[in-house]
Amino acid sequence: MSMFEDIPVDVGIIYEGERIKSRDMRIELGGPREEYKFGLVQVRGMDEIEDGRIIIIGQDISDFPERTNTPFCLLIEVAEKEVEKDLEGVIERRLHEYCNFIEGFMHLNQRYDIQMRISKKSFEKGFNCFNHKGEVLKRLFKSELPFIEKIPLTFITEPDLVKEWYRKALEIYGARDARARGMSDDDVFYGCLLCQSFASTHLCVITPQRYANCGAISWFDGKATVKVDQKGPVFEIPQGEVIDAKTGEYVGVNKIIQEKSLGEIERVQLYTTFGYPHTSCGCFEGCAFLIPEVDGFGVVHRNFKGETINGLNFVTISDLTAGGREVDGFHGLSIEYMRNLKFLDADGGWDRVVWMPQDIKERIQEFLPPEIAPKVATETEVADLDELKSWLTKKNHSIVERWREEPWLATAETGEVTVSTLELPASAIPIQGIPSGIGFTIILKNAKIKAEKMIIKANKGR
Ligand code: SF4
Repeated sequence: MSMFEDIPVDVGIIYEGERIKSRDMRIELGGPREEYKFGLVQVRGMDEIEDGRIIIIGQDISDFPERTNTPFCLLIEVAEKEVEKDLEGVIERRLHEYCNFIEGFMHLNQRYDIQMRISKKSFEKGFNCFNHKGEVLKRLFKSELPFIEKIPLTFITEPDLVKEWYRKALEIYGARDARARGMSDDDVFYGCLLCQSFASTHLCVITPQRYANCGAISWFDGKATVKVDQKGPVFEIPQGEVIDAKTGEYVGVNKIIQEKSLGEIERVQLYTTFGYPHTSCGCFEGCAFLIPEVDGFGVVHRNFKGETINGLNFVTISDLTAGGREVDGFHGLSIEYMRNLKFLDADGGWDRVVWMPQDIKERIQEFLPPEIAPKVATETEVADLDELKSWLTKKNHSIVERWREEPWLATAETGEVTVSTLELPASAIPIQGIPSGIGFTIILKNAKIKAEKMIIKANKGR
């Protein structure tokens, strides 16, 4: 008898990666339109919780009109004699995988960014209450992570209560994140393949100095996971010989990424956005993007609703970055990585950051170098690139130094070269008509590059 015979829809790995468009959804739990939403796992004592209990506070799925969204909290409590607090983040991230096993159920992102959709089709088949979802999750958690002995689940849609719990959840996430701060890179890194169902060449490389892109798995979480689940999507990566400590390139990491991407990605440099930047799946918390006009970086996060300084919104920047590719000048990242000393280290680190939304700036204020903090503009100070340039000049931002002409080795009035294959990132040439969400690369064959002037400069950093 199937473990899910009493559930009205199918459950299995084949549904992972299923996308549910807005027109096909019955309900959205959390998502970008809702300010308050989160998924949280808490470890409790064995006698503190009752196994299998499903509590629903607020309206249930079928109580909502079609195609609505709601504030949402899913609290999962777990207990076993030896479950450690260290495992909370890891168990919580599995929510992404297990929810996506449900036919007609889509789970995106993590923690306070969660977005879940139930399709109309699955709703019509009878998947219309949180009880069904709770039953699936508790069985999957117990069978996949057998160390869990007790697992009650609480679903909350009552707006005031979600808001109250949201604040508590942020404090819990913050305390978790603080653990790896200040650690230097260890000999062992951790890899996570959980998002390969959405981006088949993506592998997150998690180091003490580089939190996972989703902001949900730290180096400590990786370490705790491999102790209890050696066959899961998180595994050890021996770093091997250091190729370049500044860019963060290691023989062991390259070997693993070649293997896990089936040869598609050959090299990864962890602390740069150029050359061989870390791949991005799509559920990153934020994204660093090069602003060529000022030679600096902007950073935007998923909940930023407006346009960034270069006129693009988060969704467009995310489309340019995601898909398990290495895209020059675009870098999916977690907010916690911005608190690390190695943040974009090889590209100039904080000296190169010129713009970010006000609310991220407030969140990471205490980690911003004090001499840089007042010089990084936000949407409240500048509205376009001209204003940004004036702001940076007025504030004497260190980026202004980079604008000054560097001496060159040689020049020629015209230059022409022919290259047999020239590969460009999608952002290099605006192309109409390609649907959003599809990552692509532009390949020019037998391209002739002609320039009015050719300047040859000595390499001087990036
Ligand atoms: S973003 Fe990275 S660490 Fe987070 S779940 Fe996906 S693959 Fe794992």
